[in-house]
Amino acid sequence: MMGPSHALSGAAAWLAGSWALDQFADYHQTPLMIGVGTAMAAGGALLPDFDLSGKVTTNQGGATVARTFGVFSLFVAEVIEKISLGIYAATRQKRDPRRDHGHRTFTHTLPFAGLVGWGTTALAAHYGKWAVVGIIFFMAGLALRGLFEKWAERAGWLIVTLAAGGIAWFTAANLPGDRGYPLLGFAVGAGCVVHLLGDMITKNGVPIFWPIPTGRNRMWRMVGIPNKFAVKVGGKTETVVLTTAFTIISCVSLVGLFAPALLERLNLDVWASK
Ligand SMILES: [Zn+2]
Repeated sequence: MMGPSHALSGAAAWLAGSWALDQFADYHQTPLMIGVGTAMAAGGALLPDFDLSGKVTTNQGGATVARTFGVFSLFVAEVIEKISLGIYAATRQKRDPRRDHGHRTFTHTLPFAGLVGWGTTALAAHYGKWAVVGIIFFMAGLALRGLFEKWAERAGWLIVTLAAGGIAWFTAANLPGDRGYPLLGFAVGAGCVVHLLGDMITKNGVPIFWPIPTGRNRMWRMVGIPNKFAVKVGGKTETVVLTTAFTIISCVSLVGLFAPALLERLNLDVWASK
């Protein structure tokens, strides 16, 4: 899938999960927490494609996500692509094919999702609010780039960066100092997993089982649904059907999360009685 659909799928999953927790587990979050979590999951759902580098020298190419912070993120993508390729080469078994590009390797595995989630939570726990602000700045930038692609493209990376800074500043000023941090890592990791699922329904699949060997002398087996049913990247199924579905899920979840409280505030107890 392409950047915007990935970001939207992450947001939809987080909102639906938050609504389910609110409804069935009595786990309530403030609007700010839901907003931050949604941005984290949307950004997290873009993170794996940081292995799709472009040309740093001419400021071209790369995945949506790699262009978020201009040449800076393109450079990071270049590094991540090379590291991924290195990990691939180092763990490649005899029957795994040779590769000359790291796309859809290490960053498209469950260990990566776990590592990123754990790393985010560890950073926040260790360095406190300042790390949280940094993380939110970075992830909000990715989320903005993915969710509002057209705007981001027109506005350019500098505006996106400034907007992400604004979100981080606002969050820092309002986020309680003592709770909500473990949720950051969880949201980022969940976003990564949602990305993997999204790529699994496209033609090439992802090496979801790595590093568990799959058959003799194979470790990097691309797993996905059969090609017959695969969604074409950037095709109508993705840009219309899936995008609409993710949007509906997000909106319904938002209504489920906030409508009862709003109605109650408006004193329409009849409708809000539950
Ligand atoms: Zn991907």
